[in-house]
Amino acid sequence: PCTQDALHFVANPESGITHGGESVAPPVADLATYRAHGGYALAAAVVNGETDAESVLAAMADSGLRGLGGAGFPAGRKWRIVREQAAPRLMAVNIDEGEPGTFKDRTYLERDPHRFLEGLLVAAQVVGTEACYIYLRDEYHGCRAILQRAIDELQADPPCPLPRIELRRGAGAYICGEESAMIESIEGKRGEPRMRPPYIAQVGLFGRPTLEHNFETLYWVRDIVERGPQWFAGFGRHGRQGLRSFSVSGRVKAPGVKLAPAGITLRELVDEYCGGMAEGHELYAYLPGGASGGILPARLADVPLDFDTLQPHGCFIGSAAVIVLSQHDRARDAALNVMRFFAHESCGQCTPCRVGTAKAAQLMEAPRWDADTLDDLALVMGDASICGLGQAAPNPIRCIHKYFPHEVGEAPWPGDLPPPRAGVRTER
Ligand code: SF4
Repeated sequence: PCTQDALHFVANPESGITHGGESVAPPVADLATYRAHGGYALAAAVVNGETDAESVLAAMADSGLRGLGGAGFPAGRKWRIVREQAAPRLMAVNIDEGEPGTFKDRTYLERDPHRFLEGLLVAAQVVGTEACYIYLRDEYHGCRAILQRAIDELQADPPCPLPRIELRRGAGAYICGEESAMIESIEGKRGEPRMRPPYIAQVGLFGRPTLEHNFETLYWVRDIVERGPQWFAGFGRHGRQGLRSFSVSGRVKAPGVKLAPAGITLRELVDEYCGGMAEGHELYAYLPGGASGGILPARLADVPLDFDTLQPHGCFIGSAAVIVLSQHDRARDAALNVMRFFAHESCGQCTPCRVGTAKAAQLMEAPRWDADTLDDLALVMGDASICGLGQAAPNPIRCIHKYFPHEVGEAPWPGDLPPPRAGVRTER
């Protein structure tokens, strides 16, 4: 059901995203423009009781919308869980967008901030949250101005009674994209992940039950409720359902945010949405989920990209940041870069991650890897780290062992791979 026309329909003028991800000169949709296209009618109807909360909850559940920050928890179920907790309840919105290669939230926010705010209002009403804290990464200066202006516009001329909305600035720490570290940061503490249980839905911000969402999850609420859950669920390929906003970068002709059916393969995404590989580049490898999601070889370019589909290959989609590598790149360089990033961004709270990532980065610099020591480190980091950063840190090590052993002296260069060109290292 995912036709170009249908996707173009999704890409209404307010969003500025079209099929294939080409931007249509994106003026920021102000309140008047947004309202002129029916904006805030849904929020007003939900707050005034014309649209009942149960029907919104059912639409969210039936759409299959999952958390688009990376964890992929079903959004409708999360709303119901938090709604059942004792009041007062709060909401925390994650626009930290620190995953390397991810820029979808920024793209949507720069074009259509009110669509996100309407989703926030609907969620606040249905779940019964009395205040909403929006956590925006500090590097997004332009976004902050756009979002603050949109909040000011909304508060000056509200379509319905509003919850308290607070815009908080992050301070550049990747770990504050982890939901519990973000909550610590909003509370004014050092951004360190919490042990769970209790879960954020039960004991979150300031000790209250908290609905935590990524920006993009709320961005789709209005369209899902207004167009019906089957509209969203009707997209998809290879047995998957829904839409995904892929942030594509690397060796493709047209990088950018690509709104595409869930379950599309890397090969389809590059060929149909990115204009193919860049001139002089052949697909060699790709990172399907930013720094955390692992690295796959070109021979696995036909695996559907979605939550759950990459696990059998040791990878995951996360926030759908796809980084495409060619024969001019080495997967081991990408893996080392990622490990250095983790070592730099580890909050330092637990030893397996703090020491393990730094030690692994050192070992990964060697031309021939010390496979046994790296495997030991990977095991300890994966099993004994408190949060997802340390738990996912071994992914690049495991992927290199499994798919690119020829790059680290563990196997000869395979004959069916594009040979390295002049000037490209096979060993460091
Ligand atoms: Fe901090 Fe790393 Fe431990 Fe997470 S795994 S709590 S980032 S030290």
